[in-house]
Amino acid sequence: MLQSTDARSGALHGAAWDESSPEQIDAAVAAAASAADAFAAKSNAQRAAFLRALAQALTDNAAALLPVADRETALGLPRLEGELARTAFQLRGFADAVEQGAAQAFLDETAMAGAPPAGRPRLSRIQAPLGPVAVFAASNFPFAFSVLGGDSASAFAAGCPVVLKAHPGHPQLSRDVAAIAATVVEQCGLPAGVFQLVEGASVAVGVQLVQSPAIAAVAFTGSFKGGTALARLAADRPRPVPFYGELGSVNPLVVLPAALAGGPDALAQTLADSICLGAGQFCTSPGVIVVFKDAPGDAFVQQLRTRLAAAAPHAMLNAGIRAAFERGVDQWRQHAKLQVLVDGRQPQGNPRPFLAQVDVADFLADHRLHEEVFGCAALVVRVDDSAQVVALLNAIGGTLTSTLWGVPAGDVQPDEAVLAVVRTAVQVSGRVLFSGVPTGVAVTAAQHHGGPFPASTAPFTTSVGYAAVQRFVRPLALQDAPGWLLAREGAFL
Ligand code: NAP
Repeated sequence: MLQSTDARSGALHGAAWDESSPEQIDAAVAAAASAADAFAAKSNAQRAAFLRALAQALTDNAAALLPVADRETALGLPRLEGELARTAFQLRGFADAVEQGAAQAFLDETAMAGAPPAGRPRLSRIQAPLGPVAVFAASNFPFAFSVLGGDSASAFAAGCPVVLKAHPGHPQLSRDVAAIAATVVEQCGLPAGVFQLVEGASVAVGVQLVQSPAIAAVAFTGSFKGGTALARLAADRPRPVPFYGELGSVNPLVVLPAALAGGPDALAQTLADSICLGAGQFCTSPGVIVVFKDAPGDAFVQQLRTRLAAAAPHAMLNAGIRAAFERGVDQWRQHAKLQVLVDGRQPQGNPRPFLAQVDVADFLADHRLHEEVFGCAALVVRVDDSAQVVALLNAIGGTLTSTLWGVPAGDVQPDEAVLAVVRTAVQVSGRVLFSGVPTGVAVTAAQHHGGPFPASTAPFTTSVGYAAVQRFVRPLALQDAPGWLLAREGAFL
């Protein structure tokens, strides 16, 4: 059963309802499949109008949606207002991208007379929508990575219907947003199958969805455990389909000695704020802080300790995530090689920040320390030199982000030691930051949100930014195609 729960008090709200039955899931996928051709045949202008109408409807209904989102997630109204605005901005941004031809990438080569290899027929490279996409919403972004979040927006932009697996952490909000989406689908004259919602209280719903033969691709945002289990199912189908899984990450942040030339205070505050943002419930939350073993490094760690101890994170998303945070922190508490620096010891209610310190050799020796603890917890790893930083980044492996503070700015190339750190960060990360903090992912054309496994199951794709549309189109070549087909400008057939 599903039921709306107050994330702060645990109180149940309203009546409970059943998860989607196997028949309802089949019906949702069948509706999406039957809508796929009609939706793919819409022009760029029609798809863009649909995306803009969704954005507008979300904005128009903000006053009703925000209190539900706040009750079910405890994320607070200011953050949720910002997230809803970002989600509408993202839908409008995809509308612009569609109008600019983002889903087409049309390349036309005229015929050349003569024998091959120089002689050739006319070849036109185009992209076609894949078909119905299963989208799994995440708990920690109830708007931006949920019903009308980036995965749905980019699938619509590509011309693909969406079957959305709602996250049980915000079930009423998911229903409310889905009802808005269904109204917009109807108002835009699209078949109802363009958007379908399925609801799960057990993993069976997601499993059936991924195994449904008509599903052509899966977009997932969530945990390593859930993402890798579903990725295996997608690969084991009689007809395997692409699985775009955006998973958790430890997001190393390296404080090179040059970063501390201006003193530790401002940087320590910036980092403490980032670790505690949203009670640490960000896939981009900095979880491993690399600091050199010297006096400025000691002062920085001391400042970070003071500022984290003073922070007061809000309630977590739900009891399950709260319990998982406590289990993760408890493992660190009991670890013989960790020196605990900040520990509020509050097993229930709002979480308290947790910070511990470990020597790089001990960190490298224990793989469990390289795993994400989802919440406001971080490890400080102390290093002697940049070779150890390189070893640490390689040991962590694929990560959504790496942040490097203290790399020289400007046009002059740094020395080999710093260069090796930059080179390694580039190899293991989806995004490398040279200032600021990794929390906060701008929605732009140049953005890349992904990274080598285990950050993502599809490191060559992004789930944020306008390149995300490329996940749901398939390139093909038309040879000597008739003019009427080439003139369709976006609409497929
Ligand atoms: P989650 O527990 O994995 O849930 C995500 C979705 O997957 C839910 O719909 C869940 O449904 C389903 N699911 C999980 N395991 C499944 C399985 N074995 N079989 C079928 N379905 C399954 O993750 P979450 O609590 O939403 O989010 C927290 C995690 O997501 C953190 O690790 C965070 O770092 C990561 N995250 C990553 C990104 C990114 O962009 N990379 C963004 C946000 C969050 P049920 O609950 O119904 O089982």
